[in-house]
Amino acid sequence: MTNINAHWLNYIDGEWVDSANQLKVHQPATGEPLATIAQASVVDAQRALDAARRCADSNELNRVRPAQRVTWLLQIAAEIRAVAEEGAWVLCKENGKSLNDARDEFTEAARYFEYYAGMADKIEGTSIPLGNGYMDFTQYDPMGVSAQIVPWNFPVSICARSLAPALAAGNAVVIKSPELSPLGMCVLIRAIAKVGLPKGAVNLICGRGREVGSYLVSSKQVDQIVFTGSVPTGQSILHAAAENATPSVMELGGKSAALVFADADRQQVLSSVKSGIFFNAGQVCSALSRLLVQREIYDEIVDLVVNMAEGLSVDIGEHNPDLTPVISAGQLAGIEQLCRTAVEEGAVIATGGESFNDRAGHFMRPTVIRDVSPQMSIAQDEVFGPVLAVIPFDSEEDALAIANGTEFGLVAGVFTQDISCAMRCTRRLKAGQVFVNEWYAGGIETPFGGVGLSGFGREKGQEALYSYVRTKNVAIRVTGE
Ligand code: NAD
Repeated sequence: MTNINAHWLNYIDGEWVDSANQLKVHQPATGEPLATIAQASVVDAQRALDAARRCADSNELNRVRPAQRVTWLLQIAAEIRAVAEEGAWVLCKENGKSLNDARDEFTEAARYFEYYAGMADKIEGTSIPLGNGYMDFTQYDPMGVSAQIVPWNFPVSICARSLAPALAAGNAVVIKSPELSPLGMCVLIRAIAKVGLPKGAVNLICGRGREVGSYLVSSKQVDQIVFTGSVPTGQSILHAAAENATPSVMELGGKSAALVFADADRQQVLSSVKSGIFFNAGQVCSALSRLLVQREIYDEIVDLVVNMAEGLSVDIGEHNPDLTPVISAGQLAGIEQLCRTAVEEGAVIATGGESFNDRAGHFMRPTVIRDVSPQMSIAQDEVFGPVLAVIPFDSEEDALAIANGTEFGLVAGVFTQDISCAMRCTRRLKAGQVFVNEWYAGGIETPFGGVGLSGFGREKGQEALYSYVRTKNVAIRVTGE
């Protein structure tokens, strides 16, 4: 079993290596220090890039018969399943999330490798008819070196989400873990390192975003950037990417709306709100953070939701409560500030609105804010905490205008028994994915990504694999025809 309080290392060119400096990792449940990890410098980042470059250029990953990559990915999945218990415990401690959810992250990580193992030998081009005298076909080449920057909210599953298709397509990868929650990813990469991938195929460094992250994304050695994180960081990475015209996948934030029509099934709404905004303490990019409710059932739904929120168990992750602490004191302070601003702008706290000041860790009360109007900051800004804004609407047209009235467009939901209403809304909602009658429906098999400030490119599903390859067309002049 891992000694969690140990000093953790970076993984570069097939070896676990230390750095001159270290970062402290704290426990959200207590605020106390938990462990230290080697803080990668730009020198470490360059070593990782060199290792990945050597691996990509040696073609060891992509010239093998694709069946070899299938084998590697399936072996990785098995190794991840073998460390899931240990890894879940580490992730629960460092991140504050429930043990069950941490376990699910490792299971999901294994599923990504199984899923993309199934595609690694099916990356097939097409043949294009050009008439007599020509043969034409396309092939998919790997990008080369993929730089992947991971956020703290689902570090293990998001890491696997980008790493598995990248390896399936034959890329070498440099991953930067998040400063606040890097340890579970070390357990993940330790499992992956047991499989005999070519040296330098996978590198993991933990360093400061502004130093090491920005160094990676500015490097000419990087052939692709995959970023999951906040909008301001994504924008700064895109500026750097523009310098080298580096292709990028951007998975950014959200302010996603569920439209609840008067005929909606109340149980479906309640269970969706419970997971939609309180799962992972609301620190989910696709959280159900705006509940748009038809005016005639507005008071009824607010009462039901408040009642549910007040009945949630709040505890440390090891006890598998409904609501866990948020990641840091800074995050908690930001969430409380957004609640105060909501009140100043005229909204009403129906329940919650502040932290538990009698608890040591970073615990926010489950919060429901009512009488929110669409232009208030609580209806426009991502909170990234257990805070639900409830907004009334009068008509379908009105609901769609409110739902589409932010700069984001990650996910959206529709709750109604009327299939025509659901289909009309689905067509018109500005979002990368729409849930009907169940928030978070879908899975690793379904493409995920945003529009507007929520980003571009798709992860998950078969479609994501094509984010990790380039199309090459080969046109051949055939003489004598
Ligand atoms: P963040 O943007 O602060 O950090 C994300 C990562 O970027 C971290 O590893 C950080 O070290 C690194 N980073 C910071 N500055 C950088 C720079 N200048 N150059 C390169 N890298 C840099 O985000 P966060 O606080 O870790 O995560 C929360 C945000 O992530 C929320 O906005 C959330 O919506 C978003 N998110 C999106 C998805 C998605 O799939 N769309 C999933 C999870 C989280």
